[in-house]
Amino acid sequence: MSISAIFLDRDGTLVADYPDDDWAKVTSLDIFSDTVPALQNIPSRYTLFIVTNQYLIGENIISYDTFSKLHKDFIAQLKQANVKIEQTYFCPHARDIDCQCHKPSIGMIEQCLLNYDVDLSKSYFIGDSESDITLANTIGCQSIAVRDYQADVVPTHYADNVELAISYIINGESSDA
Ligand SMILES: [Mg+2]
Ligand SMILES: [Zn+2]
Repeated sequence: MSISAIFLDRDGTLVADYPDDDWAKVTSLDIFSDTVPALQNIPSRYTLFIVTNQYLIGENIISYDTFSKLHKDFIAQLKQANVKIEQTYFCPHARDIDCQCHKPSIGMIEQCLLNYDVDLSKSYFIGDSESDITLANTIGCQSIAVRDYQADVVPTHYADNVELAISYIINGESSDA
């Protein structure tokens, strides 16, 4: 049976983002105040995936070990709050490398589809960047742009933050019923 997914960008969507060079000084991810309650509110029939560009690894601004530690701490905090992230997909490649995974390329989603039977038409992508919304539109997900989104690519929906994005998903479902 296929599953419905909510794909989540991380930086600038679930946690604070910074100018590239400032990431070198980050010792823990600054989780936005709405993130945990929003994720706790997601109906259990959705499977959650994080899909994140981490070109700072490939560009030697943060090490893989630092990324891994920061991310594991974040996932552990979510787990303590009973939020399960099924899998994280990240692209570590520098931007000048022509990889297939850097959003808006679809490689990370293809990777996901190798392991999970996701019905993309019943899935959502929440992100704050043009690359997130472009990717979502390419793969046929509903796209929800949050926070500082200013790009020209038109999302399915705009929400100020993830909490309101999840409300939109839930209310959309109930109004369909
Ligand atoms: Mg982002
Ligand atoms: Zn990549």
